[in-house]
Amino acid sequence: MPELCRHPAPFPRRPSRRRASPRRATRAAVLAVVLGLLATTPAVSAPGVDPAAAPRPGNGGDSYFPGHGNQGYDVQRYRVRIHYRTARKRLEGRAAVVARAEQRLTRFHLDLRLRPLSVTVNGRRAAFSKPSGRELRVVPRRPIAAGERFRVVVRYGGFPARLGWGGERPWQASRTEAVAMGQPQIAAWWFPANDHPRDRARMDLTIVVPRGQQAIANGRLVGTRKRSHRTVWRWRAAEPMAPYLAFFAVGRFDVRTSRAAGLHQVVAASRRLPARARKRALRQLSRSAAITRWLESQVGEYPFGATGGVATALDTGFALENQTRPTYGRGAITTSLLVHELAHQWFGNHVTVADWSDIWLNEGLATFMEVRWTETHGGMSGAQWLDRAWRWRDPDLPFWRVRVADPGPRRIFHSAVYTRGAMTLQALRNRIGEDAFWRLLRRWAAERGGGSATTADFTALAEEVAGTDLDAFFDAWLHSSTRPPRSRTTGLVP
Ligand SMILES: [Zn+2]
Repeated sequence: MPELCRHPAPFPRRPSRRRASPRRATRAAVLAVVLGLLATTPAVSAPGVDPAAAPRPGNGGDSYFPGHGNQGYDVQRYRVRIHYRTARKRLEGRAAVVARAEQRLTRFHLDLRLRPLSVTVNGRRAAFSKPSGRELRVVPRRPIAAGERFRVVVRYGGFPARLGWGGERPWQASRTEAVAMGQPQIAAWWFPANDHPRDRARMDLTIVVPRGQQAIANGRLVGTRKRSHRTVWRWRAAEPMAPYLAFFAVGRFDVRTSRAAGLHQVVAASRRLPARARKRALRQLSRSAAITRWLESQVGEYPFGATGGVATALDTGFALENQTRPTYGRGAITTSLLVHELAHQWFGNHVTVADWSDIWLNEGLATFMEVRWTETHGGMSGAQWLDRAWRWRDPDLPFWRVRVADPGPRRIFHSAVYTRGAMTLQALRNRIGEDAFWRLLRRWAAERGGGSATTADFTALAEEVAGTDLDAFFDAWLHSSTRPPRSRTTGLVP
């Protein structure tokens, strides 16, 4: 199975020369090709539409996945109600999307893979169509003025497990359990969204499941209500999030809600896991709050009001940093993995990527925090780790050919994005010194948090904090497709 968020272990055995990139990445490549073709559809193709009043429909402007997300408006809140029939894998939904128009809109797109049944804009029926499997086009009765707040309500349904896009089928489900988790795309499989990390919004999630099942999602549990055959679970995430970080899990779970280390913590493990594995998973997940506090001591205030984690019995092959509540596939939940997913709450979730080509900002920083955990818990130092990680990889390995700051859509989850990304950070630490380095990470989270950022933003802040030109350093580590040479410039020689 592919591995997404979960990185290749930062303290590896000597890597094999035959390390292939994850299969998921290959699927992403197909996706990129498909979406790239869609993106070339001219914006003026629809008759009767003033092109100046319509953003490029269905094009979010991402350099790798232009079909993800849309332009012309900014979503503020999603209020999503899902009825999921686990045994049939059938989903029915109603989503209210509150957004603000950034320009006059005669029509607009949402990303939705399922079948739309009805659409209203500000309470009035709107015309809609599916120009492609991933796009929902909405034409309101009257144009929406620039700056106007508007409310779109979409009713929709279908079988998300049957739906692919670009060769990928991201829905994770058996007949007894389902978890909506995926990167870079999953939202469109369960609610209409402006599906790009640049557009973050608050989430209210109501999940209706057969009685006896549980539904876990982001944020806080607002309440549960029992009906004759169903249970309604209501969750609320107070802080805005990128659509792909919204999730829900349904099935039979042991759910524990507590106040831990001063945080609202919800942990859950599937009852489909063998008893010992379930117990171990709950024990590990219950450390989330304490690990979050440790991360806080390193990189600054935790940006969210809740934490926790969910262990599914599904063989997902990866873990994902869903906001406030990462999800973990079956298999051991190591401390390193917990640290990685929880570090993403700052790096990836609080600061989101402005473009998917910037993915190393998420994965490099999360992997580096694992290295930091190890050095502060009796393991080797970051400097030792960097030295070994560099020496153990011969210069002719494919690992060094990946440009970390622009790996290409088929390699966004390549091990180099994680490991060379983390090596970049440790080398930077060697180069600019302990004080400047930690000031940089804290300022990055504090100043960029709540928004999106690029690699150029990061390197500019690093230069500002260090008070020195770092062009040659970042060229060698982020932009080159060769192994950085040992020198003071690259931070490999003290
Ligand atoms: Zn990750």
